Order: sequence, then structure tokens, then C-alpha cells
Amino acid sequence: MHRSIPLWRQIQRKNFTRLDQLAAFLNLTEAQKQELWGQPRFVLNLPLRLAQKIEKGTLDDPILRQFVPLQKERHSPPEFKLDPVGDLTARKCQKLLHKYEGRALLMPTQACAMHCRYCFRQHFPYEKESGCEDELKLIQEDSSLTEIILSGGDPLSLSNEAMQSLFASLARCKHLKRIRFHTRFPIGIPERIDSGLLTLFKDHPQQIVFVIHSNHPRELDADVLSALQSIGKLGIPLLNQSVLLKGVNDQEETQLALCQTLVDSGILPYYLHLLDRVEGSSHFEVSEKRGLELIAYLQKRLAGYGVPRLAREEAGKPSKTLIY
Ligand SMILES: *Cc1c(COP(=O)(O)O)cnc(C)c1O
Ligand code: SF4
Repeated sequence: MHRSIPLWRQIQRKNFTRLDQLAAFLNLTEAQKQELWGQPRFVLNLPLRLAQKIEKGTLDDPILRQFVPLQKERHSPPEFKLDPVGDLTARKCQKLLHKYEGRALLMPTQACAMHCRYCFRQHFPYEKESGCEDELKLIQEDSSLTEIILSGGDPLSLSNEAMQSLFASLARCKHLKRIRFHTRFPIGIPERIDSGLLTLFKDHPQQIVFVIHSNHPRELDADVLSALQSIGKLGIPLLNQSVLLKGVNDQEETQLALCQTLVDSGILPYYLHLLDRVEGSSHFEVSEKRGLELIAYLQKRLAGYGVPRLAREEAGKPSKTLIY
């Protein structure tokens, strides 16, 4: 029988993937178009919802900068590497990374709802095959693990059917206490939080923790927040991680507005990550000193739980390195 395509997938199929179409949509001038990079290795992929939030006729927009490939990505200093955080060394199996005690990261899919230009996994040689049997076997055998982080790619790229089967496998691992999501999907396509997914979450026997990735308050519109709140209402903790990015969220007012919007919506700021030095991302880098200034500013204005931890990831270390 023909199964109908879920609404969120239909929306995802309308993502911008052609730069010329996006440039026309954004009313960019010929001179501005010259600054775009037409053939990047990490291709354009941008949901309509996010494209609609970009100011027209300028390249100087915090949403545009995060998602639209620019020529300046091609001038990458040698310190900016293909695998900046040592993912390949931590790979226990094709789709399983184990760096920190008690927690391992499972990448059930390579697909994302959008492509972020600063993504530290943009050059990751993902396994294309679907299914995680070998990874699930390793998880089953390793009783030191208490938490599996579903990352990727974006775990919400999985269909509800695939998620259900993954959840069933994880539920059989009795040593696991938690499943954590690391996802940016609802920022681009909040329709992904559909009733089928909520039912899966509600019925799952292990604790679920839901960590989103949002960098700018404009990403958090009423639809996005209400989708996230429907998860929160199930008693699932909601957290946010951001990446500190030049020209996107390196101003005091932006960080404050982001944290306030999050806290007001029941989402606690978790990490503010310093940029991972991945090839092509050097124009996004913000110094540690500037990061500390921003945190000091936030600390004077927000509840303690409203201030994210400033952190950086260093290959080979037993945890993220906290700067503050
Ligand atoms: C960041 C990360 C985690 C999670 O670290 P927390 O400090 O618990 O958020 C786990 N595994 C890997 C491989 C990571 O990169
Ligand atoms: S959504 Fe996350 S994994 Fe996907 S491209 Fe963006 S930062 Fe990378």
C-alpha cells in the first residue's frame, strides 16, 4: 500500500539547494552574487522557513551567513582542518563515536534539515548504508554506557518508523538510562515534531533529553517554540547549544536576546561553543577573550541557569574544555 509522505518531508523537499534560485529569492545584486560560492563541496541546503528570515538585498545577515556558501570559504588557513575534533580517532564503528566516559554518540543518519557552513562534521566521511546493527551490538555489549547521544547528521531526519525501530533497540540495552538528541531540525522545519514523534517520545521507557542547536533569536519563531514546548510538556528536558560565530551572534544584544528567548520558553542554554577549526570556517572565528566578555555581560543580566557554559572541544581530551 502507498504510504503518504509526511508533511515535514514534503516541506523538506522544497529546501533551497540551488544557489541561483536562492540569490534571486534574496534579491541579491550581481556584485553580491560574485561573492557566493557556486560549487562548494558541502552543498547548499536551506529550508524555506529560514530563507524567509533573511533580509533581502544584503550578504550581511546572521541567517544568511550561517547557511549560504561564500567564496571566502575557499581561503582556508592550514590550521583549519578536515577533522578538527578528532572524530575519526574516536570512531568505534562506522556510526559510533566514543570520546567521553559513559556517553557515546550514535550517528544513525548523515542527512540534515539544513547545511551550516561552520559545521565541524561537514567533511566527515559518513557511512552511506542505512541501519546500525554493528553499532547497536557494541552499545549492547558496553555496560559502561549510560547515555546514547543521537547526532549526525540530524537524528530527526529519520522517519518515525526508523526512529521507532531504533528506540526499540536502545530500550533493550538495560544499562542505558538516557537517550539524548542533538538536533537542529526543528529550527528549520518545526513540523518535524509531529504527533507520531511525540507518541514515540511519550511511550519510551528511558529518559529522553532534547538538545537543540540555535544561534540567533530570529531562528526561534512562534512555530518553532511551540513545537519545542510540545516536547517539554512531556517532561523532557530542553537544552540549547550554540556556536559563537562572527557576524552572527558575537554581539551582546544578540546573545542576551537569544538566552532570554530560550529561558522564557523553558529551554536552558547549555553550551556556547567556540568554533571548531574546520576547513572553510575561518571567517567565523571569535576569540576566547571576546567569548568571555559576552559571558560576563550575560551573567550580569540573567539567572545563573540562563547563562551557557563557554566551551571548546579539544581532540583527545576526556571532556569538553570549559573556558567559563
Ligand atoms: C560533545 C560530545 C559529547 C557530549 O558531551 P557533554 O559534555 O556530555 O555534552 C559526547 N560525545 C561526543 C563524541 C561529543 O563530541
Ligand atoms: S545541522 Fe548540525 S550536523 Fe547538520 S550541518 Fe548543521 S551543524 Fe552540522
